[in-house]
Amino acid sequence: MSSTKRPRILMIYTGGTIGMIENPDTRALEPFDFDHLIDNVPKIKMLDFEIDNVQFSRPVDSSAMNTSHWSDIAHVIEDNYDGYEGFVVLHGTDTMAYTASALSFMLENLDKPVIITGSQLPIGEVRTDGEENLITALQVAAAKDLDGAPIVREVAILFENYLWRGNRSTKHSADQFNAFKSNNYPELARVGLGIYYNKEALWRRQVPGSLKVHYGMDPNVIYLDLFPGIQESTVKHMLATPGLRGVILKTFGAGNGPNDPWFIQALKEAIDKGVVIVNVTQCSNGCVHQQRYLTGLGLAQIGVVSGQDLTSEAAITKLMHLFGKGYSPDEVRRYMEYCICGEMC
Ligand code: ASP
Repeated sequence: MSSTKRPRILMIYTGGTIGMIENPDTRALEPFDFDHLIDNVPKIKMLDFEIDNVQFSRPVDSSAMNTSHWSDIAHVIEDNYDGYEGFVVLHGTDTMAYTASALSFMLENLDKPVIITGSQLPIGEVRTDGEENLITALQVAAAKDLDGAPIVREVAILFENYLWRGNRSTKHSADQFNAFKSNNYPELARVGLGIYYNKEALWRRQVPGSLKVHYGMDPNVIYLDLFPGIQESTVKHMLATPGLRGVILKTFGAGNGPNDPWFIQALKEAIDKGVVIVNVTQCSNGCVHQQRYLTGLGLAQIGVVSGQDLTSEAAITKLMHLFGKGYSPDEVRRYMEYCICGEMC
């Protein structure tokens, strides 16, 4: 049988628990190198795939990820796009949903699977979840439909029993094997005895075009997370952050916040200066409806943008992406309410 028929998958190892080992002195988990990881999954050789790998020169705990790491991953995908049917990114779980969201915006016209996975226990441990996650991610990255086209054509997170849309996912558990959830969008696939794809949920873009990577990500954005009793000095201090361009305002319920005049005035002054403020709910499920209550309406009236049902990870990376593309505040406001790649309702 010709080896050219075998699916070609590129694994990109960035770090995370999946490839960590315990430091004998401190007993803390630290990133290790990729050879160690592959040695611990001999079953990979049972897959009839051609698998190559690239690793970060310094694997990182994903808590140390920043926009340049996202560029590094995107570069590897762009440079190897034509040579592989799919990509598996091994990544720490802590910021996996941010990376998945960021990549979904950066990789315009993506037509191939970019499957991000990792594990809660290092792959060298007896009860590891890493082996199954890695094998299943490789199978998803290689999966084709009856026409020979990739089943998954988007950035997705594979973890334990589910495949989730990357920009709809969130890490919801620090210790369960099913560590990710997508509270506003159904699973792309359920993993059990087989891998059962939810065909209607898979992203299919409407506009033709070849892969275009947007490397610019502007990190001059913040979260402003509301709580009852938040102080005027705190809000004003945060909005006075030098270079600030965008704020993800995490509000109560359907998009409500305090209606104290100082609060509305502080937000309005920031908006008037060109800061884009986007309203997302602190609830894990549901959508912002700024017009439903007077407390939300006040925000809409001063120009706060509705983030609808965006996750906070997708909201902040979308802001970074839009400012990174060089859009004006008005354009960013407009595009924040427009679905780019399946991230909102
Ligand atoms: N701190 C680790 C990381 O995000 C946790 C993990 O991989 O599960 O890199």
